[in-house]
Amino acid sequence: MTKVTTAQLQQFDRAHHLHPFTDFKQYQKQGGRIVSRAEHIYIYDHDGQQILDGMSGLWCCNLGYSQQRIVEAVNSQLQQLPYYNNFFNCSNQPAAEMAKALVDISPDGFNHVFFTNSGSEANDTNIRLVHRYYDLLEQPQKKLIISRHNGYHGSTIAAASLGGMSFMHEQFRGIDYVHHIDQPHWYAEGGDSDRNEFGLQVARQLEKKIDELGEENVAAFIAEPIQGAGGVIVPPETYWPEIQRICDERDILLISDEVICGFGRTGAWFGCETFNFKPDLITFAKAVTNGYQPLGGVMVGDKVASVLLGGDGEFGHGLTYSGHPASCAAGIATLAIMKEQRIIERTASDIAPYLQQQLRQFEDHPCVGEVRGSGMVAALELVGDKHSRAKIADNSAAATFCRDQAIANGLMVRAVGDAMVTAPPMVCDRGEIDLLVDRLGRALDATAKEFA
Ligand code: PLP
Repeated sequence: MTKVTTAQLQQFDRAHHLHPFTDFKQYQKQGGRIVSRAEHIYIYDHDGQQILDGMSGLWCCNLGYSQQRIVEAVNSQLQQLPYYNNFFNCSNQPAAEMAKALVDISPDGFNHVFFTNSGSEANDTNIRLVHRYYDLLEQPQKKLIISRHNGYHGSTIAAASLGGMSFMHEQFRGIDYVHHIDQPHWYAEGGDSDRNEFGLQVARQLEKKIDELGEENVAAFIAEPIQGAGGVIVPPETYWPEIQRICDERDILLISDEVICGFGRTGAWFGCETFNFKPDLITFAKAVTNGYQPLGGVMVGDKVASVLLGGDGEFGHGLTYSGHPASCAAGIATLAIMKEQRIIERTASDIAPYLQQQLRQFEDHPCVGEVRGSGMVAALELVGDKHSRAKIADNSAAATFCRDQAIANGLMVRAVGDAMVTAPPMVCDRGEIDLLVDRLGRALDATAKEFA
């Protein structure tokens, strides 16, 4: 590679590169950080600054950045068969083996997978699968989908419509058959209510919404076990059992969007296992390849699969790269590492409880109102007044400041609304968690000083 200076790269980037979820106007002026390499749990920018990646990339590099086995699997697959499609009754070895590997780690009753490249496409696929399912059952009017405010399901028109991010909805016209109910965010929206009582109340909004829309018209409910991009919203214990009851009593499919929660993040292979509910469909992406190749998809439960498999005619849906051999090779290697090294069991019994316990010390910090999390994902909600839960600053200014301080201290975390979010790689050791907590603590201290 030719040697290019940081300033040159930043200039190309500012001039020509439109970044996702970025203020274009501001970026043109300010530019950004060029990340040039990564090792274990650290990223390095073009000037050599080392940053502990407390976000596992974008919640995807759960095994960190030094998994040579995945690199070799992709390399050797690219030499053997760099591409072939899975249309027209063709398949390839990695796609077939990856389908089997996913079934092996999925909850009982999941025996089929549809591959996509991303979580957004997987959620689009969910809509297509659910509509096809009810069409085959001769209930073509069952097309409505219920989801939640402040949920995130991706960025294509359909996936963003499923999502409940108001600032996104303001920028496009969503599809008209998605309806939203409230999120189970007790700290922000529960007021004086008991946490578990609040969990029941918000879950029962699903029942009310189904009644309002007519059960005969509602196809599915989609939700993340823990809302990730919405700010790591861990639902009250009462929430998921009540959702399960409602879906069981009604003829409504339950879709668990596990794009963040899947592959060990919450302490089990899937978040639905951590929260003990049984979906009909599971969306996955991100950590399925440890972020090394784009791959997503839908695990289809037997109830839905049996109808789809029994239907006459072609399912008119698919992507050029559905089941891409190199992506599937990366997925096979990732799942093999996770299984052979017992990553989930080891993390759940040591590093995850350690992370949660160490972060809980910030409950006493003057600008932290709540520390929440599960497994290897957590958030600290910043507040101006712990008692009244008054905001610390307008427009997420304090969280943005805190994030920038953390990065300057060598820690990548994310600011979501007023929350500081972390989801470090599962291959951290205790010393590295201590480093993360120390750097976060310094950023919080600076934030308290600035916004007190
Ligand atoms: N679903 C959830 C829960 C997500 O968090 C995301 C991305 O963050 C998506 C779907 C979209 O995935 P992708 O960005 O791969 O399209």
